[in-house]
Amino acid sequence: MITYDIIIIGAGAAGMMAAISSAREGMKVLVLEKMERPGRKILITGKGRCNITNTREWEEFSRHIFPKPNFFKFAFKSFSNFNLLRFLNEIGLETVIERGERAYPLSGKSQDVVRTLVKEIESLGVDISYNSKATKLLTKDLKVTGLLYEKDGVLNEVFSKAVIISTGGLSYPLTGSDGDGYIFAESMGIKTIKRLPSLTALMPLNFNISLKGLILKNISVKLIVGKDLLQEEFGDAEFTNNGFEGPVGLRVSRKAVKAISDGNRVLIDIDLKPALTRDQLISRIEREFGQQDKIYLETLLRRLLPAQLVNIFIDYIGFGKTKILSKKLPGEIYKISDFLKSWKLEIISYTGFERCVITTGGVSLDEILPKTLATRKINNLFFAGEVLDLDGDTGGYNLQIGFSTGYVAGKSAAEIVKKNFT
Ligand SMILES: Cc1cc2nc3c(=O)[nH]c(=O)nc-3n(C[C@H](O)[C@H](O)[C@H](O)COP(=O)(O)OP(=O)(O)OC[C@H]3O[C@@H](n4cnc5c(N)ncnc54)[C@H](O)[C@@H]3O)c2cc1C
Repeated sequence: MITYDIIIIGAGAAGMMAAISSAREGMKVLVLEKMERPGRKILITGKGRCNITNTREWEEFSRHIFPKPNFFKFAFKSFSNFNLLRFLNEIGLETVIERGERAYPLSGKSQDVVRTLVKEIESLGVDISYNSKATKLLTKDLKVTGLLYEKDGVLNEVFSKAVIISTGGLSYPLTGSDGDGYIFAESMGIKTIKRLPSLTALMPLNFNISLKGLILKNISVKLIVGKDLLQEEFGDAEFTNNGFEGPVGLRVSRKAVKAISDGNRVLIDIDLKPALTRDQLISRIEREFGQQDKIYLETLLRRLLPAQLVNIFIDYIGFGKTKILSKKLPGEIYKISDFLKSWKLEIISYTGFERCVITTGGVSLDEILPKTLATRKINNLFFAGEVLDLDGDTGGYNLQIGFSTGYVAGKSAAEIVKKNFT
């Protein structure tokens, strides 16, 4: 029976990086992956292009990390976005930085990221076992000693000096990440935080499907929970089959989902003309009258809004389709400007784990030492990646969390093995 130095559960971004950093320290490493191949989630990242990381400096980067950026600071400083890009370049992956400081493989293909990582893992002599689902951790005297895993219907026992759990979150469970890591944590008495979908579409009440495909550029969005303004974001949004999303929609989804799941009333308040003050917008509307005293509401809205929004706004304003506005009734003009600056959508639900980008919640950060990613309760047990209660905005932040925490978990597991077993 082989005893490994380190067993890593899950061959995603975090697990593969942990395998590399520990094997580079001379460790004998086994990676167990329940799917038939590694990095299935990486393949679907960045719409198949894989937004590997974001090259912003920590001060700006940290604003996109939740709930405790300072917890992540140690891992980030040990293996930063620039360390990651240099490392990927060294092992043969060329990268490019695009708009918003987002880094991608130069080829534009996420499979090249997976292929490059797997090549490095194999060259380091790491054993990888696919179709191998870890099912139970083995411990003795509050120390992890190995685990049980299932392969081809057979239950196997394997021993190790340390275990790293990098089983991912719950989003897109068909990629393999379906929550096993939380079960392992809870079985060890390690506290977990409630999991919720994040970076996900928000469904408005009475959603008008004719909005599907509409992209709103440079809008401002307020997230209002009960009576409180919780978040304000500026940028682009998109309506899809699933409701309100796009960059701004996804950014507010973290708090919106939490508020809905807590039973609160959630509103999205959209300013379609954030570059204009209310008075400037009123003047702009008045200019549309030209020399005339009157204008059809529909004609006015066609000049101010994307075509897809016009009929929806006519209904929303409630004046009726044939409404004619008059300069002599400025109250109506004020009302229209108010509607354009504050289009309220009540959000009643959201897309679940099956199609969200990331999981919030997970293994409580209180249970983990930030410098090593070791658990406080069980010796020689580490967690890395999305399984932790750590997540980021879109823009490459989540993969960086996976790579940095994987790197640190692998390296510190190796240090502990060297210190305690040699
Ligand atoms: C559609 C989509 C697009 C995204 N795009 C981006 C992007 O462009 N940039 C970005 O930064 N982030 C992106 N993300 C988020 C990013 O993909 C994740 O944060 C990241 O992949 C998490 O890495 P991980 O290693 O922690 O988990 P995962 O990648 O989920 O890997 C976990 C692995 O563990 C395996 N596993 C689970 N349980 C067991 C078990 N019991 N035994 C053995 N193996 C097990 C799983 O099969 C899986 O392979 C995207 C996510 C989605 C869903």
